[in-house]
Amino acid sequence: MTNQDATILLTADRTLMSNYHGNQFLGFGTCAPSNFVPDVLYSYMFFPPLKTNKGLATSAPYGLRKIEAQLLKEDFNVLTVSPQHLRKYLKTAKVIGIHTMDPFGFGPASTTLASIFHKEPFLARHFQALVTSPVIREAKKNGCKIIVGGPGAWQFHYRPQIVERKSIDCVVEGEAEKVVGKIFRSALNDEKLPDFYEVSHEDVPKLEDIPDIVQPSVNGLIELGRGCCRGCEFCNVTIRPLRWYPLEKILREAAVNVKIGKHRVVCLHSEDVMLYGSQNTIPNDEKLIKLHESVMSQIHSISWSHCSLAAVAAKPKLVAKLSEIILQKQAWWGAEIGLETGSATLAKKIMPAKALPFKPEEWPQVAREGFGIMHDNKLCPAATLIVGLPDETEEDIIKTMELVDDVSDCRSLIVPLFFVPLGRLKNRDWFRKTEVNKLHEQLMFKCAEHSIRWVDNLLDMSFTDKGYRVALKEFYKVFAGIAKRQIRQAETTELQKQEKRKLQD
Ligand code: SF4
Repeated sequence: MTNQDATILLTADRTLMSNYHGNQFLGFGTCAPSNFVPDVLYSYMFFPPLKTNKGLATSAPYGLRKIEAQLLKEDFNVLTVSPQHLRKYLKTAKVIGIHTMDPFGFGPASTTLASIFHKEPFLARHFQALVTSPVIREAKKNGCKIIVGGPGAWQFHYRPQIVERKSIDCVVEGEAEKVVGKIFRSALNDEKLPDFYEVSHEDVPKLEDIPDIVQPSVNGLIELGRGCCRGCEFCNVTIRPLRWYPLEKILREAAVNVKIGKHRVVCLHSEDVMLYGSQNTIPNDEKLIKLHESVMSQIHSISWSHCSLAAVAAKPKLVAKLSEIILQKQAWWGAEIGLETGSATLAKKIMPAKALPFKPEEWPQVAREGFGIMHDNKLCPAATLIVGLPDETEEDIIKTMELVDDVSDCRSLIVPLFFVPLGRLKNRDWFRKTEVNKLHEQLMFKCAEHSIRWVDNLLDMSFTDKGYRVALKEFYKVFAGIAKRQIRQAETTELQKQEKRKLQD
């Protein structure tokens, strides 16, 4: 058997098949629409294509690597291929599996940017370009089945036509390790596939059902576990049970990235890295320290995908210890965090467990402390907050603005995102641009000013190496400078409008 005999090809569009120049934060750039930078240059700056070996992806999104590992475990003949090289492997392919994060741009970041700029985000454009590309059309004509899965699968419920038209044969939603073999086998046997396959509660994989990745993941991302115990109303993760991987499994996956991928970087991924190994909301010192010491001994640099402000605020000494371990090899590290709101009332209503082990009404204070601890320890958050949460009042928005003011001296990015109905709030209405009021505008400008203030500092800390990355840093600085001018211009125009209205009144 040779590579050319593969019957299953796995791929993703080019916004996902990128290492974002080694900086996960730059991946946010895929949520933006076309702008003042020509598309070709913008794509190179924010999502350059991954290296390939004869068209095979030398690294790939972690979720796709898990599916690949499961299919290999079940003896399927599978290859993970760059989207630009699919044709090379098409002759024997009977099924193409496509991984997606945000296929129609309905995710919070892309919806917000799309409604402001009235254009489709890059990630949606590239996904649609892939599924309608001549190579996929040719594959379909030859009887090849197209199966789509990944964290963005839920969006197809809002666009069922694409499945009904049979451009895609089946959309798989949920953690698929236990069912993916059955679905791909049916596809190979030319059996009828369901348009949508929602992974049932019984089919959610237990720890022992989840295989190790066997090929490198993008930027060395490896999972620490799945699920979250905080149960925020607006979040899809709430629905999944909490499972933590044993340290040995995590180290095996880090080793795959180091040995095969030659990646000496790791991004530890979970909904809250600070809660690794804990069954409640109090961080486990021993497990976290051991995890970091073990991982850092194999690699050169680390980042976290997400952590919570409450867990940071609960254990400042532990954060200092982890910082001591991490900063031996690097100047800072980053994580995404959910700031969500500065209103204690709203926090109590929609995310009562987010502040645990503190009380929900203490949320604004917990957030302030968390930001301060992160700043002191060089943990740089990319924080998101939600604009237009159901039942949000003017008082709630004012409290959020006060919180943004209070953390202004903490090194961070703060990104406001429009509410998207997910999790237990999936039946509520989307927040639309037409609902943005004056206070929302002020809040959004305040966040932009905060991020503008810190962006140059973060760029200086991120691109310290020599060579092309120094040139790249200057590009980002020019890009950030133009964006700053445009935001400030918009602010001035808005203020002038308000003054004019006042005078007319
Ligand atoms: S928003 Fe974050 S903390 Fe809340 S349930 Fe989701 S993953 Fe957990």
